[in-house]
Amino acid sequence: MPSIFTKIINGEIPCYKIAEDDQFFAFLDINPNAKGHTLCVPKKEVDKIMDLDAETYMGLMRFARKVGRALESAVPCKRVGMTVIGLEVPHVHVHLIPLQTMANATFQHKESFTEAEFMAIAESIRARL
Ligand code: 5GP
Repeated sequence: MPSIFTKIINGEIPCYKIAEDDQFFAFLDINPNAKGHTLCVPKKEVDKIMDLDAETYMGLMRFARKVGRALESAVPCKRVGMTVIGLEVPHVHVHLIPLQTMANATFQHKESFTEAEFMAIAESIRARL
């Protein structure tokens, strides 16, 4: 069965899209640790990051860096943190999280946004790509 992220990539489930190329896709996390929390995902469906082939791994990092730089410029923060967990969704993804404090990195501190706010955040990141 395709993962929830494959369904997002294929447009079967809506998302606040940030960027896409032939191999990778970025969108806002629906339950963000902080404003602008973004997920970068390889289109190739692999569960664990250490199982990616080296080329896809490096490509994902390059893609995440590009998105992360736009994110850092769009959302006021001390820096953008990068985390890989994957305990909830078994499809490799890199979390890019604008950090003000360590709480933003813990996944216990969550923030809520309206649909209009999510759309505005996504537009502001996209504009900086
Ligand atoms: P992890 O697998 O790294 O532990 O966490 C999965 C992340 O994906 C969580 O931060 C969660 O909020 C996010 N997530 C799960 N389902 C969806 C979804 O349907 N849409 C979006 N945009 N994010 C999701």
